[in-house]
Amino acid sequence: MSTSSSPSPKPPAAEPISVLAGLLAPLGSALAVVAHPDDESFGLGAVLRALVDAGIEVRLLCLTAGEASTVGAGSHLVATRREEVLAAAEVLGLRSVRLEALPDGGLSSLPAAQLTGLVEEELRGARLLVGFDRVGVTGHPDHAAATAAALRAADAHALTSLEWGVPEEIATQLRARLGAPFAGFARSAGDPVPVRVDRGVQERAIACHRSQDPNNLVLRTRLALQGDREWVRLVRRGIRRGIRPPR
Ligand SMILES: [Zn+2]
Repeated sequence: MSTSSSPSPKPPAAEPISVLAGLLAPLGSALAVVAHPDDESFGLGAVLRALVDAGIEVRLLCLTAGEASTVGAGSHLVATRREEVLAAAEVLGLRSVRLEALPDGGLSSLPAAQLTGLVEEELRGARLLVGFDRVGVTGHPDHAAATAAALRAADAHALTSLEWGVPEEIATQLRARLGAPFAGFARSAGDPVPVRVDRGVQERAIACHRSQDPNNLVLRTRLALQGDREWVRLVRRGIRRGIRPPR
């Protein structure tokens, strides 16, 4: 018997993220570079926690104080968001947080060298850079600017990078359902791989960002569509530029 409706597609086969994190563990330490306080939890939370669980020392560089958020706007927003990101970092097990105060909403207008310089200053021996996919994922230009800076540092210092994002199928659904300008992974940069994650700790970190409505519809719809899946792109880089091998 045939039926006119096709079955819904199965989610792609995915290994637990602990397998990937275990492969990256020999790198020892990682720097996550994000634009806003909450990106480390709403976006990267499950990935960062998996790296920490694998024994990697993870530090966070957040380039803005998130002062432009229309959610929770008020005179205490910057101080509140600082407290929230520090609490979330503790939940995620991050080693340290460096919170810069570059203009929220204005990162893409700043000189590239300024952003790259901040990433390089904060590397402190990190051999893995973690961030949003280079397209910016949610359509916010700050996300793309933060990742571009991280990737320039990764290129210059021959460091491995791990980009988090959503596949085009999910971006398409988010655009259609919410009118939110999500973008799937940049196609030119190599394929992302699906991984299975545990969202328990991530949810606790998300809950720290009370001023940003941890139950907001965009976040909840995305997480419902993703289930226990995340997609990441790993790029390993070669020899450190400008340093000659010993004779
Ligand atoms: Zn953000």
